[in-house]
Amino acid sequence: MSRRNRFSRNSGEQQGNGEVGGSQDNGRPERLREGVITLKLGGRNPLKAFNSYLITGQKHILVDPGPPGTAGELLQQLSRNRVSLGDIGLIVITHGHPDHFGSAYQLKEWTQAPLAIHELDSEYVHWGTAPTLKPVTRLGSIMKPFSKLKAEAVEPDITLQDGDRLGRYAGRGRVILTPGHTAGSISLLLPDGTCIIGDLLMGGLRASTPSYPRFAENLSEVRESLQRIVDAGATTLLAAHGGPFAVVDLPRAFPWLRVDVDSLREREASAQKEQERAAAERKEREREAAERAEQPAAAEPRVSAERSAPAQNGAVARTEQASDEDRPRRSRPRRRRPPRRRGGQGDQPQQGGSNA
Ligand SMILES: [Zn+2]
Ligand SMILES: [Zn+2]
Repeated sequence: MSRRNRFSRNSGEQQGNGEVGGSQDNGRPERLREGVITLKLGGRNPLKAFNSYLITGQKHILVDPGPPGTAGELLQQLSRNRVSLGDIGLIVITHGHPDHFGSAYQLKEWTQAPLAIHELDSEYVHWGTAPTLKPVTRLGSIMKPFSKLKAEAVEPDITLQDGDRLGRYAGRGRVILTPGHTAGSISLLLPDGTCIIGDLLMGGLRASTPSYPRFAENLSEVRESLQRIVDAGATTLLAAHGGPFAVVDLPRAFPWLRVDVDSLREREASAQKEQERAAAERKEREREAAERAEQPAAAEPRVSAERSAPAQNGAVARTEQASDEDRPRRSRPRRRRPPRRRGGQGDQPQQGGSNA
C-alpha cells in the first residue's frame, strides 16, 4: 500500500484487530464493533439505485460514496444511521467508474479522510473520466453506458494493492484484486465472510438475482475473480447495484463456479449460533439495565439534542448505531443520580435520556 499524500495521520498505526482473521473484540466501544451498514442511494428508481457501504470500526470506512449529485443523500443516510462524518477514517473506491466516485470529492472535503483506490484504476479518479465500456449482458446493450456521466476529479491519497489490509487506516478488511469489470476493480473481504464487491456482479432484471456486470473490460477475468473471492472465504456478496448475494446460491446462476456448499452451510450455521448468543447476551444486559433504571432516581439531563442531525458544516450528530437489528446495541447501564432536593425546586424526576 503506498501513500502519495498529504495525510499523515494514522499511517502505520494499528487500529484494533480489524484484520481478516484477527480477533473480534479488543475493548472497542460496543457500538463500533463488527458491522457493515448499507447506505441506499438513488431514491426509488431501480435503475438509479446504488448501494454505498460503511464498514464500521473505531474509525469507519466509507466504500463507494456514489454517483455525482448524491452526496446530500449520502449525508442523510449517514445521519439516519447516526454516523458522524468525523468518524470516517478512510474512503475506498472499488473501481474507477463515475457512479462509484462521483461524490468522492465532496465526501473527502467533508470528512477530510484519505481516499484509496487500486493503482490500476486511480487515473480515472484523478482525471474524473471513465474507461471505455463494453456491454456484456443484454441489459448492458440496451442501457446507455454512463461514459458521459460527469464526475468531479479527485486526487487519490492511497493506492491499494492486492492483499492490503485496511485496518491500519480504519475499519477492517482485506483488499482482493478482482479485475474484469475494470482492470483495477477490488473487493473488500471482512473476517465474517462478508465481501463488498463493487460491480463484480450486479442484480439482473430482479435486483436479488445475481448477474454478470452489464459492462466489463474482460468477462473471463470477471469469472476468475468471482472464483477468487469464493476461494478466499466470501459467504455474502455486497454489490453496488442490487444484491446482496449468498455465495451458496451462486452456482444456480453460474454453474461453472466451484463452491463448497457443505462447508459454507456449516459456517453459516455457526455464524447464526454466534449471532443468537450475542443477541441473548445483549438482551440480558438490557434487562439488567432496565432493572437498575427502575430504581427511583432523577434522570440525567436530556441528550436528545444530539440526534438533530445533520449539523452545521455537513457534520452529522454523533450518536449510536441503532437501526440495524443485527448490530449490538448500547446496553451500558446509565447511572442515575439520586434525586436532588433544592428547597422544593427540581424535585420532579426528569424523563428521557435513555433513547439517545
Ligand atoms: Zn462499474
Ligand atoms: Zn457501478
